[in-house]
Amino acid sequence: MDRIIKGVMKYRRCHRDGMVKQFQQVKDHPEPKAVFFTCMDSRMIPTRFTETNVGDMFVVRNAGNIVPHCNHFIDELTMCEPAALELGCVVNDIRHVIVCGHSDCKAMNLLYALRDETFSSQFNRRMSPLRAWLCAHASSTLSKFQQLEITSFHEPLLFQAETPMRRFVAYIDPEDKFAIEDKLSQINCLQQLQNIASYGFLKRRLETHDLHLHALWFDIYTGDIYYFSRANKRFVDINDLTETPLLKEIKEYYS
Ligand SMILES: [Zn+2]
Repeated sequence: MDRIIKGVMKYRRCHRDGMVKQFQQVKDHPEPKAVFFTCMDSRMIPTRFTETNVGDMFVVRNAGNIVPHCNHFIDELTMCEPAALELGCVVNDIRHVIVCGHSDCKAMNLLYALRDETFSSQFNRRMSPLRAWLCAHASSTLSKFQQLEITSFHEPLLFQAETPMRRFVAYIDPEDKFAIEDKLSQINCLQQLQNIASYGFLKRRLETHDLHLHALWFDIYTGDIYYFSRANKRFVDINDLTETPLLKEIKEYYS
């Protein structure tokens, strides 16, 4: 806690006054740009690597940047992720939802191990909320991964996007640069777009192109950040060369 208390003191000295001014501006002119789902991992600091500030994004974090499918939504047993989608996209009228995964994700590493039936047994699930969470909500990611395994990671996967009629094709790590768990993490990221689109309260906006779904992936070893390009059918490193074509693609696709 020393680290936290000292941090609060530094914030009071250096940043508090400036932030209070920003809070006031946001209160008068709220314009949040995105709902950002990412992993709770301590290495992920999304406001820093996107250079976003007070008022820009609603950030939702959990183990493995997972958004449960609407099939799991049962009245009083609802979860925070769909509530966050409603707060962001309906109450605050945000038009972009981003799911951001990362390399060496401990939740994805565990999900990879959960392919083993003993490891994911009912007993182990009861003993571990984390295993239960992954078994309940990331089994669709594992199924996609197994499809890819059958083809030795060569064939593309098909994902549903904003509506059942809008689909996109994804080649996962075609250059074979990443560890097997990182390939799983990239699939997981894309699978969440399908899960987000399962919610009825977003249906009309998704159908009328008023709400857009994106995937980002952060490589914590190199600091590179990838955007899933539907045109390129793969995660593309965001850099000086790709910035303009990616912005063009996003503008054309989502306008
Ligand atoms: Zn993680």
